[in-house]
Amino acid sequence: MPRSSALKRAWRYPRRWWLVGFLLLVLLAGLLGVLVFLAREYEWAREQDGLSRDVEALANDMRSELTRNTQMLQLLNTADPDIALWAQRAERVLQGHRELVRLEWRNPDMTLLVPSNSPYLGNVFQTLPRDQALPDIRRACDAATRSSGPSFSSNYFWPVAGGRGLELMEMCLPITQSGMPKGFLVGTYSLPAMMAEWAKSAVVSGRGLAFTEGDGTRLSLHSTVPGGRDLMQASALLDLPGHTLQLQLQSPRRALGLFPNVLTAVVGALSLSLLVVLMFLARDMRRRWRAERELADALAFRKAMENSLITGLRARDMQGRLTYVNPAFCDMVGWTPAQLLGTGLPAPYWPAELLDVYQQRQAVRLAGQALPREGFESMFLRRDGTHFPVLIIEAPLIDAQGTQTGWMSAVLDLSEQRRVEELNRAQQERLQATARLAMMGEMASLLSHELNQPLAAIASYANGSLNVLADPQREPDLLPSAMRQILAQADRAARVIKSVSDFVRRREQVREAVAPSDLLASIQPLVALQAGKSGIRVVTDVQVDVPLVLCDRTMVEQVLLNLARNGMQAMPTGDPPARSGWRVLTLSVQSVQPDPSTSARRWVEFAVTDHGLGLSEEAQAQLFTPFFTTKAEGMGLGLSLCRTVIEQHAGELTHAPAQPRGTVFRFRLPAAPTL
Ligand code: ADP
Repeated sequence: MPRSSALKRAWRYPRRWWLVGFLLLVLLAGLLGVLVFLAREYEWAREQDGLSRDVEALANDMRSELTRNTQMLQLLNTADPDIALWAQRAERVLQGHRELVRLEWRNPDMTLLVPSNSPYLGNVFQTLPRDQALPDIRRACDAATRSSGPSFSSNYFWPVAGGRGLELMEMCLPITQSGMPKGFLVGTYSLPAMMAEWAKSAVVSGRGLAFTEGDGTRLSLHSTVPGGRDLMQASALLDLPGHTLQLQLQSPRRALGLFPNVLTAVVGALSLSLLVVLMFLARDMRRRWRAERELADALAFRKAMENSLITGLRARDMQGRLTYVNPAFCDMVGWTPAQLLGTGLPAPYWPAELLDVYQQRQAVRLAGQALPREGFESMFLRRDGTHFPVLIIEAPLIDAQGTQTGWMSAVLDLSEQRRVEELNRAQQERLQATARLAMMGEMASLLSHELNQPLAAIASYANGSLNVLADPQREPDLLPSAMRQILAQADRAARVIKSVSDFVRRREQVREAVAPSDLLASIQPLVALQAGKSGIRVVTDVQVDVPLVLCDRTMVEQVLLNLARNGMQAMPTGDPPARSGWRVLTLSVQSVQPDPSTSARRWVEFAVTDHGLGLSEEAQAQLFTPFFTTKAEGMGLGLSLCRTVIEQHAGELTHAPAQPRGTVFRFRLPAAPTL
């Protein structure tokens, strides 16, 4: 995926989450609102149900009280009482029943036989004569006659003293004796008293109770509640024979809190907690997203950095398996990351002939020994089989917990640097050779020029002398003087030669005491370069307590370099590296035990051993002859110069066949006197 679109997606990501969070919040709030609304509705419906049940129960209670009263009133006329007894009985009944305002015994023609008024109300029928109620009584009694049972009249308003009034209702009960109508028992009920007597205070307290018309007009109140819109009401019908009353119960609506019941409160609390959790989650996600973005940025930065590097980077775990390689490293060795990652030891880029050196270095690493901070030079193998020198700088790979998980290495390809060095060196050598040739030419012309005169003088004196000798008569005394001149000229020629040789030997003055290992160390880079290119292993073997040598450092280095190069060139490239014994060049140094019989001087012996094809007989014969070479680009001056230098150091350059094949060149240098 292109990076820009991935970035854009990463930027959209949090905004989408904000939207999801907001929607979730709205949804949760909506759910909570609906829940609270439904819970309130449910609570109120429950209350309404309770109210309906209560008013039904009240109506039932009243119905059964009225039935009981009817049965009791039937007893008033049992056993054919006389007027006085009836009045007595009626009085007792009225005392026990406040809801009854008056009891009357009327004849079948409705004339009043005997009345009895409630002792609790005074005379209700003072303001208006009782006859005013007669039509109601008559209608009830007609109905009672027809049904041969109790019958109720419609309720009506009856004014009493003080401008007030009562809602009354008549009940008529036909009296029969031996099947013959004996008149009517009329009971007058007070509706307010009925409510006051029969409505249970527990049910009514705090509520409004009233008898109402069908349209809700209140006829008689028992109690009221302050009205408002939050009033609940329920009605029940009180079915009576001949008349139906409607009982109404009112109750103020219970004020409900924000959460009308425990369930809603619990759900509310849970929703709130969910909200809080969501908020924390959102905050957490935001932080995580930010951290991820920073990490992605850092990663992208790192990746760009790694990709732009020309230094190869490689990480290995404790077992030596490759865990990371950067593009530069892959380019260097020619393998893809997929081919490299996970590969263990030996690494695919290790030249087979150097395997033991690498294994040794790995062992050093595993032993926990610190590798040189400035790095070490090594040789790697490209996939196409070519060798190239590298500089490796290693550091332990420490994880966040502080434990080492492997090694990180920066690998620098030294091919180019070495190529330039080699070019410089070759140029230098060519320059030196040219300089040497020029010097020789100069010396030769100098010698010929300088020697020309004395030789010419000697020749002419000799000629003159011969002429004198041929003719003894001619000035024989000239002969000794000519001989003296010849001697003088020969002397001059000797002086010229000595001065030239002095000029050549002038370098003797620069002798210094050098450690043999230093001599080897100085030529090592150049030798390693050539060895690396030809896949040759160079082994140095310096005896531990070998003394310092007294020498012209530059010249001896030149000798060692020459011998090493000859040795390497003598080893054919076709030798298989697996048999690494063939392609090994050994530079060894050891001290020679002094032989007290010949000299007390201590010597140090240098040996350069190759396993090449050895020296042919012709080569052995002409080895030190200047300009003898078997190489296309050789000058044939190397070995003769080497011998001169060694002889200038009072040593000797020798050669011998090496085992199993090859040549060993040896020379000795004097040890520096110990102080
Ligand atoms: P150059 O190296 O320029 O040829 P040298 O004087 O160094 O000149 O060597 C002369 C010749 O001796 C070489 O051309 C080579 O044939 C032979 N020679 C020198 N060293 C060895 C060696 N170690 N093994 C085999 N032949 C050698």
